[in-house]
Amino acid sequence: MLTEGQKTQRRRVHVTLELPWSADRAIQQFGRTHRSNQTSAPQYRLLFTNLGGEKRFASIVAKRLESLGALTQGDRRAGPSLSAFNYDSTYGKRALTMVYRGIMEQDSFPVVPPRCSDNQASIEEFITEAKVALVSVGIIRDATVCNGKVAGKLSGRIVDADMHDVARFLNRLLGLAPDIQNRLFDLFISILDVVLHNARREGQLDSGIVDIKGKNIELKEPPKTVHVDSLSGASTILFTFTIDRGVTWESAKAMLDGRENDGAGSSNDGFYESKREWMGRRHFTLALEGSTEGIYKIIRPAIGEALREMPLSELKGKYRKVSSIDKVSKGWQDEYDVSSKQCMHGSKCKVGSYCTVGRRLQEFNILGGLILPVWGTIEKALAKQVYQNHKRIRVVRLVTTNDNQRIVGLFIPNAAVESVLTGLQWVQDIND
Ligand SMILES: [Zn+2]
Repeated sequence: MLTEGQKTQRRRVHVTLELPWSADRAIQQFGRTHRSNQTSAPQYRLLFTNLGGEKRFASIVAKRLESLGALTQGDRRAGPSLSAFNYDSTYGKRALTMVYRGIMEQDSFPVVPPRCSDNQASIEEFITEAKVALVSVGIIRDATVCNGKVAGKLSGRIVDADMHDVARFLNRLLGLAPDIQNRLFDLFISILDVVLHNARREGQLDSGIVDIKGKNIELKEPPKTVHVDSLSGASTILFTFTIDRGVTWESAKAMLDGRENDGAGSSNDGFYESKREWMGRRHFTLALEGSTEGIYKIIRPAIGEALREMPLSELKGKYRKVSSIDKVSKGWQDEYDVSSKQCMHGSKCKVGSYCTVGRRLQEFNILGGLILPVWGTIEKALAKQVYQNHKRIRVVRLVTTNDNQRIVGLFIPNAAVESVLTGLQWVQDIND
């Protein structure tokens, strides 16, 4: 039995018999074995058969591990889009439903199934084979063979709960003969590709890496080494950045002037002031008609361009246009200055100093360098956070505008920095 603090002499071997069908979850499991109180790094052994599903999934996990490895070596190339590889995701579920609906002939497949030609007969043949397979593993239930007009045709049903149960589909696949197993897996993957492609085109795809963008991103202080791995000597580094989201009066004015000079503007383009006071003050904004007529981009002194564009009726309902340049310039600069120090709620904010709503200058922490050995520690520290969106580990990629440095690492909310550092210190202590 080992107690905390005692060094583990023997090398740990992490054997996975069954992979979770999500690369992220698999990595998380590995992170739990890779602890620092060991004298040698663990070996990861992925056990899998040579059959379609498992082998491919394992290669995806391996790729993901590589991309984390790249982080550890300070590689500046960002990893691939990771959650795209998670089969058990919203997109995977959507793809699976399409697979099932195609097989049950409720819909046509969005792709030509593997090894079928475009002609209907080969697709029907595949459908029949797929149905037999799905009946044999209990996914199609209440199967009956028709004996009327379409004699020999197999029918049955897939229960609602199974329609999007990716884990069940993939696990049941493993029980099928290799040929049909691979074809069904290939079909699922090519439909997933279509789903992902569409999501990407519509800009909805959560790539797993959140890009942090800001006009002005600067290191607030020199990067801090917060943990050194006793085996490799590689370190984990905390970067603290300051991001300035604001727009100065000069650049706001230049944006409007540019519009007018191009003759591209609308008569409603211009500076506006809020009709109501909000938290003791009126707010200024620059509205410029976007690519759709009647819909306006909203640019604010403190946070720059808002994510949401505003219809003209809403703009006119909440704001009034200001023609006095003196008045706007004073109000704009005032808001720009105040927002550097406090959030929109002012001194009475309930969240306190961590609140970032409407705050122009934001501090941002990214933990980079060697991540895997401290993954579990960070996970624990984040789990203790009060806010739901602080609890989840997020991989972020930040590009600094001034020197174009790229950093990929884990996002650490301001409120969690202290507890992450305490956790890492504890790991370091038992290591030394
Ligand atoms: Zn606040």
